[in-house]
Amino acid sequence: MSKGEKCSLCSEPAVRSLSASEASKYFEVEAEARGRVYLCKRHYKEYKKRSEEVRELERLRW
Ligand SMILES: [Zn+2]
Repeated sequence: MSKGEKCSLCSEPAVRSLSASEASKYFEVEAEARGRVYLCKRHYKEYKKRSEEVRELERLRW
């Protein structure tokens, strides 16, 4: 990832990027944020937590 990217949800330095379509499952992201959405450490942690919860629900469904 390019240096100096900022989190798309706050203005912390970004540590990860996601595709906008993936990020929009878990966060309110701007439609203009096509392509990549950048997440800071805190938001990435939140993303991981939410995606794990979703995966757990999917597992229980089976
Ligand atoms: Zn953030």
